[in-house]
Amino acid sequence: MIRIVGAGPTGALLAVLLARRGQQVELYETRPDPRQAPAGSGRSINLALADRGIHALKAAGVFEALGSSLLPMRGRLIHYENRETAFHPYGQRPNEVIYSVSRHRLNQALVEIAGACPGVKMYFQHRLEGADFAANTARIRDLERDRLIAVPMQPLLATDGAGSAVRREMVAQKLIHASEIDLEHGYKELSIPAGPQGSFRMANDALHIWPRGNFMLIALPNDDGSFTATLFLPKHGTVSFETLNDQGAVKHFLARSFPDALELMPDALAEFGAHPVGFLGTVSARPWHVAGQATLIGDAAHAMVPFHGQGMNCCFEDCIEFDARVARHASWETAFAEFGALRKPNTDAIAAMALENYMEMRESVADPKFQLQQALSLELERRFPRRFIPRYSMVMFHHEIPYLTAQQRGAMQAGILADLTRGAVRVLSEVDFERAEREILSRLAPL
Ligand SMILES: Cc1cc2nc3c(=O)[nH]c(=O)nc-3n(C[C@H](O)[C@H](O)[C@H](O)COP(=O)(O)OP(=O)(O)OC[C@H]3O[C@@H](n4cnc5c(N)ncnc54)[C@H](O)[C@@H]3O)c2cc1C
Repeated sequence: MIRIVGAGPTGALLAVLLARRGQQVELYETRPDPRQAPAGSGRSINLALADRGIHALKAAGVFEALGSSLLPMRGRLIHYENRETAFHPYGQRPNEVIYSVSRHRLNQALVEIAGACPGVKMYFQHRLEGADFAANTARIRDLERDRLIAVPMQPLLATDGAGSAVRREMVAQKLIHASEIDLEHGYKELSIPAGPQGSFRMANDALHIWPRGNFMLIALPNDDGSFTATLFLPKHGTVSFETLNDQGAVKHFLARSFPDALELMPDALAEFGAHPVGFLGTVSARPWHVAGQATLIGDAAHAMVPFHGQGMNCCFEDCIEFDARVARHASWETAFAEFGALRKPNTDAIAAMALENYMEMRESVADPKFQLQQALSLELERRFPRRFIPRYSMVMFHHEIPYLTAQQRGAMQAGILADLTRGAVRVLSEVDFERAEREILSRLAPL
């Protein structure tokens, strides 16, 4: 019997994969059953789903269930302070899009499919409160009956998210090392309601960004015609959530920084006052497992900041990788150890790239040099498709390229792009493509 703690995206997908392998699974989740519960507010209402996540969902036979709730976003729509806008495509092939999907809808679909798998039992409103590794037992509270139950581990899969209680128990019992590093910026969700008859009030095939240097607003479309906007801002300092502490200050800040967006957000001031500031951070743990008793998977092992839109995609890739280790090894300890050894270099790479991407989204996207390098990346990919793929595309559209490879090749490519756009080069036609060919053939091996 496999016990999974946490029925978020990772736990629910793992349950499906393991059940299809003939395993018996018990899934414990603090929250009520999402199949009956309305969408709650809190963590991001919608998420960007990309190739790695789609590949994993297809492998588990879950992707098709999402159907029309997926909204394709073809690129970034940048909103400048003077209200001008510019569209920058993410890729150059028709399938190189990312999808906005409702977190709640996705979770519902996953839980529905997991619940229908023979061998899966789900216990909602059951919260893990402790894990005693010496006694090989987890303590789980049935919240409805207020009753504590003891559940054997061996194996227990901890998919209980960034604040993982299992990880904190492992650390407290000195079985692993872990760090939780908070970003100095937090986030707050606001909304752009639908127009008449559920129409969209901005382009619905783009991820909208208002980059403003040290902070930014983004908005992703929802399938009811609305957008969910997220303001990322320092938690402390001159312009911060701490100083925006009355309606006048908030109104002045929003009107000055995002005048076009504010016109579309009639409830912005009320929402700003009512919605909590969300925390963002990076979790790192080593090792991820305790013998054959328990292992961390998903955000519990490697939560990252959301600026590459890869956290959940990476978790889904974890599930596929973990399932493959289970298929290969009869021993849980070997499966856990191999999973961690193979996966951690890649999750470290995407966590680092996600942090870098914050600067890109809030500042660089508005810089003409950066835009030239983006356009040049796509042109180089057109000319040398086997050797040069933009780093963003490697991460978002190529599940067959490991994150670590994307990070390493991305660094080499950044050097080439910097060399080719140095000095007076301002537009694509001024780039020396003969030199580009020499550099690429000598510095980048075929993929
Ligand atoms: C603002 C924001 C935007 C994001 N945008 C994107 C995006 O666009 N694309 C993307 O790929 N990723 C995105 N992410 C990341 C994504 O949300 C996470 O990577 C993903 O949700 C992790 O899934 P998980 O199942 O591992 O953890 P979680 O989603 O945190 O799920 C953990 C589950 O465990 C349950 N649980 C917790 N503790 C216990 C306990 N003690 N006992 C029992 N159950 C417990 C929780 O209730 C929850 O259901 C974003 C994150 C944030 C914060």
